[in-house]
Amino acid sequence: MNKGKEIFDGFYHGLLGQLNLLSKENRKLALARAAICKQCPLLHKGRCSKHRSGKNIVTGVETQGCNCFVAAKTMSNLRQIENGGNCPLDKW
Ligand code: SF4
Repeated sequence: MNKGKEIFDGFYHGLLGQLNLLSKENRKLALARAAICKQCPLLHKGRCSKHRSGKNIVTGVETQGCNCFVAAKTMSNLRQIENGGNCPLDKW
């Protein structure tokens, strides 16, 4: 996926969320993702830190964070469409 498009989409949906315009389905999905991120050791100062790493739960490969702002990342519905998500550790 185009990283710029993904980031834009995340911030766009973040804005919709702030304005209370996010669909119920996307809000539910974003909250579920955020709950997972909240427990993740890669989360640092609101980002999926590129300075931290963990084992991808599917491949078992040690993987760095993507450095995205988690609040926006969890709201991108592009990953929802592409099935499988874009969490570097494949947790969502
Ligand atoms: S996107 Fe994945 S790796 Fe990054 S903080 Fe969230 S759960 Fe952790």
